[in-house]
Amino acid sequence: MTTQAERRATTTFDSDYVSTINGRPATSDTTAPAFNPATGEVIAQVPVMSKGQLDEAVAAARAAFPGWAATPIEERQRIVSAIGDRLEEHAEEFMALLTREQGKPRAGAEWEVFGSVAWFREIAKQSLPDETLLDSAERSAVTRYTPVGVVGAIVPWNFPILLSVWKIAPALVAGCTIVVKPSPFTPLCDLKLVELVQDLVPPGVLSAVAGDDDLGKWMTSHPDINKIAFTGSTDTGRHVMSSASGTLKRLTLELGGNDPAIVLPDVDPARVAPQLFWAAFQNNAQFCNAAKRLYIHEDVYDAVRDALVAYAKTIKVGNGADADTGLGPIQNEPQFKKVQEFFADSHAQGHAFALGGEIDTEGAGWFVPVTLVDNPPEDSRLVVEEPFGPILPLLKWTDEDDVIARANDTIYGLGASVWGKDLDALQRIARQIDAGTVWLNEVHQYTPYQVFGGHKQSGIGAENSLHGLAEYTNWQSITLNKDAEAV
Ligand code: NAD
Repeated sequence: MTTQAERRATTTFDSDYVSTINGRPATSDTTAPAFNPATGEVIAQVPVMSKGQLDEAVAAARAAFPGWAATPIEERQRIVSAIGDRLEEHAEEFMALLTREQGKPRAGAEWEVFGSVAWFREIAKQSLPDETLLDSAERSAVTRYTPVGVVGAIVPWNFPILLSVWKIAPALVAGCTIVVKPSPFTPLCDLKLVELVQDLVPPGVLSAVAGDDDLGKWMTSHPDINKIAFTGSTDTGRHVMSSASGTLKRLTLELGGNDPAIVLPDVDPARVAPQLFWAAFQNNAQFCNAAKRLYIHEDVYDAVRDALVAYAKTIKVGNGADADTGLGPIQNEPQFKKVQEFFADSHAQGHAFALGGEIDTEGAGWFVPVTLVDNPPEDSRLVVEEPFGPILPLLKWTDEDDVIARANDTIYGLGASVWGKDLDALQRIARQIDAGTVWLNEVHQYTPYQVFGGHKQSGIGAENSLHGLAEYTNWQSITLNKDAEAV
């Protein structure tokens, strides 16, 4: 059998995608196609793992756990950082593959790949040492953070590399072993990443299994997985929680969002418009933290709307592989159909379109034009739900308390942004928004040191920062009565 080192030397990013189980490549006669969303072409056939192969991966992770947990943290940190170095060595190939399988243009691929490299390196500097709460002549009490065990990571298709790295890095630093399940729509980069770093970790510590949604269900109910780290939709998150309840798994759920952006009357419309545009349309709006409801004060509503329309017209929608493309396609066909439903609903409700509104379904690839809907009713589907595509409602507001109430009137609470020159007003509003992250005069600023997670039905638990790292651990209190004569 080919060794991992030989595979690494000969691997290409054009074909030959395999899962990795117990340090070895795993294949299957059953395969599923991976598509280039810009052309509709099949770019790879990906082996679909069976329940038995998942069991093998979990058994290997279980067997590797004691040794990995006992490995000194400095060594685990060194390895996690080295995984980042390996990703950086192959950055060009990963960026090209990410554009090919996910659709995002070069700038987005760079952000994701180099962001992932930085995440490996920075999370590798984090640790949760024992905390001594009490150490007197009579007694001591210490809190320890012990690794939870085997982690199952379930990843979506919008940021396939970064969102798996947000799980792999802290799990390994904490001393857990991990089995990663990529999205069936974007398995290629994740499979390559896990395959390419096998010489850096003991067998079984880091595995990847590709398959369909059944694989996710098998993972969430698996008796030998201790924790599920899940990023995906709120609907699927509910299934994950219910399925994981049978074995009382630890859960981190990073779910959907319907982020409001609130624009104050003192903005300069021409300056703020490009920033609002990217707040909403980055990654073609396939972004949990995309601004999905744009609340613009009535004094500047027309000017901001017109500046947005003018700016949007300068951005080319096309194949992410073309250098002048600003926004790529929708990543997959089911999502393309879902986005079409929002367009159909807005047409049926008689909404006014400030820009766009018509999807050409005849051409190759799943392209949707940037679409701005001019002040639709607050209860429209477009305002209440998460379209996850480039159709954005522009909404007018007058009263600050009222816009805050409208911003919070959602089952979601992932993120929000507020834009204006009055910094006191920004802070005042931010503190009344019920969301995990509120950005003021900026958006989508993440760091490995900043806690990330959703309020309400946007999730449970956290990623990033020491709070995120702690989610891969159990607390343990050890107390000691030092009076040995007492026993
Ligand atoms: P999805 O929920 O359809 O799929 C996510 C993952 O779950 C995939 O790997 C899928 O195969 C798997 N899955 C599907 N059914 C499952 C089941 N019953 N049990 C276990 N696993 C199952 O989400 P998606 O369409 O890939 O991603 C888009 C969604 O993810 C959006 O709602 C978006 O807002 C959300 N998202 C959230 C964050 C965040 O950090 N909060 C980040 C990115 C995306």
